[in-house]
Amino acid sequence: MPHTILQQLISFKTVSKDKEEGKRAIELIKKELSNLSLFINEYDSNGFASIVFSTKPTKNPKVILQGHLDVVPGSEKVFIPQIREGRLYGRGAFDMKFAIASYIKLLKDLGKDNLKNYDIAVMITTDEELGGEHGVKHVLNQGYRAKVCVLPDGGENWSFQEGAKGVYHLEVEAKGKSAHGSRPWEGKNALEDLTDFLNVLRSEFVKEPCGDKRHYHNTLNVGKIEGGNAANKIPDSARALIDMRFTPDTKLEDLKKLVKNTQKKYKNITVEELATGNSYRVDKNNRYLKLFMRMVKNKLGIKPEFIFSHGSSDARFFLDKNIPTILLRPTGGNIHAEEEWIDVEDLQRFYRVLKDFVTKTGRINSEPKGA
Ligand SMILES: [Zn+2]
Repeated sequence: MPHTILQQLISFKTVSKDKEEGKRAIELIKKELSNLSLFINEYDSNGFASIVFSTKPTKNPKVILQGHLDVVPGSEKVFIPQIREGRLYGRGAFDMKFAIASYIKLLKDLGKDNLKNYDIAVMITTDEELGGEHGVKHVLNQGYRAKVCVLPDGGENWSFQEGAKGVYHLEVEAKGKSAHGSRPWEGKNALEDLTDFLNVLRSEFVKEPCGDKRHYHNTLNVGKIEGGNAANKIPDSARALIDMRFTPDTKLEDLKKLVKNTQKKYKNITVEELATGNSYRVDKNNRYLKLFMRMVKNKLGIKPEFIFSHGSSDARFFLDKNIPTILLRPTGGNIHAEEEWIDVEDLQRFYRVLKDFVTKTGRINSEPKGA
């Protein structure tokens, strides 16, 4: 049962920042798979461990099954897995240790002798929640390629993710000149300049409510503003953190240009880039994706749909390398919240479809039928 392994994995507190716990969880997986004569490559980038189990000594398998072991923080309670009314609760149950548990079971079920007929790899990383630079990006830069990657870290309730917005995080700082609050002409108010700047920038984005249910548009969130310390004092510095998200129709360069042009009018404002990530879009006509969707439809009687995601994932690194990527999830919810869960029966269904898909596409000499 994949959920037995899943419960074990949940009990590891693999919060992204705890690199050692990530390594301990990887050790457990190595032990689980130790009898299968798999080829193992381990990587370390900035202390973040990654591991790739392959059935052949190659960095170019037919199928890569990818998952991240790291999770977002939570109370002690969420690391104790619980099954209630058909749901398995616990941190990482749905994001996305269920997939890793499924991969472990799949390799074991295929078995040592049978695995010789396969050309597949399981790639496990530990820094997705922090951006994936030291995980998937680093590992792919070692030369990994594949005909297709399965990455169940997007979509929900059997819908497939068709793409995701990119991300652009900035810190904006305004410098001013302090003076008494009763004499504004003697100073320069950094907080006012900062809010002016932010308002000009904000005017370039769609206002909510926008009327578009999909919210397929760029967004800007001012997440933090600080500056000043008294009503009667003109603040000489102020700072803001902003989070911009952009659709594949906008280039990151366009947003950078927008910020730069807005900044031109404010000589006292500096901007620092905190994080960036490209948007992505999958090829809906890819034959592997179509095959997976047909399997969901035929085996489960579910008509799969596409959804667009507002948050990014490691898929962008695979798509940057032109590796077709399949993003879907079974039924579950409350990602990053206290009561994160996955439907136990649906996990079995996911496992069955995954196994069929890998059996059809991961064997040596196998080719999926054309679309
Ligand atoms: Zn909207």
